[in-house]
Amino acid sequence: MSKVLIVEDEEAIAEIEKDYLKLSGFEVTVKSDGESGLESAMGEDYDICILDVMLPGVDGFEICRQVREKKNIPIIMVSAKKEDIDKIRGLGVGADDYMTKPFSPSELVARVKAHLARYERLVSSSKENNDVIEIRGIKIDKTARRVFVNGEEKVFTTKEFDLLTFLAEHPNHVYTKDELFKEIWDMDSIGDIATVTVHIKKIREKIEFDTSKPQYIETIWGVGYRFKV
Ligand code: CA
Repeated sequence: MSKVLIVEDEEAIAEIEKDYLKLSGFEVTVKSDGESGLESAMGEDYDICILDVMLPGVDGFEICRQVREKKNIPIIMVSAKKEDIDKIRGLGVGADDYMTKPFSPSELVARVKAHLARYERLVSSSKENNDVIEIRGIKIDKTARRVFVNGEEKVFTTKEFDLLTFLAEHPNHVYTKDELFKEIWDMDSIGDIATVTVHIKKIREKIEFDTSKPQYIETIWGVGYRFKV
């Protein structure tokens, strides 16, 4: 049974969400303030989080950002304010989806199911086939060290290949430049975290349709990068 965490301070809304999700067979936990929501999301194993933006204590943006640094689980954000939707996009907090209140509870259930199904497919496919990673239009053949973008082969340097593969193998996980540098380059190699930025730029030029609006490697401002699925 999939476990859902709802962080919502409006009791009536939380109750409706909980009832509908329970009827669909989910195990549901509700937290009604930011602090306990954050603690629960970080400390316990949920399969998906539904976060309200405006919360007493820590807000939904901050919870999302912190969870995304550690976990790949789907996150759906909800807000009564349309402006928040732009903020969710613009800040790159790492949410997978967002809904504007009021929304129909059955729409929420449908989205929860869709995100969980996608996430499960992703997790199981990465377990089954260790040598080829396929995410949307990108195919990485780890054994042959070849990369195909929409069927067309692109040439990658060793470090570009290693960096792309590392990010693609840990989808939705946000890494700092520091972490990526330590992971991909030897500790005593010449260079610094600016090297990471340069390599990300080069990778984007090869895989992104529009490098100003990256669809694969997303910049999480003030934190680092993640490979978005
Ligand atoms: Ca609220």
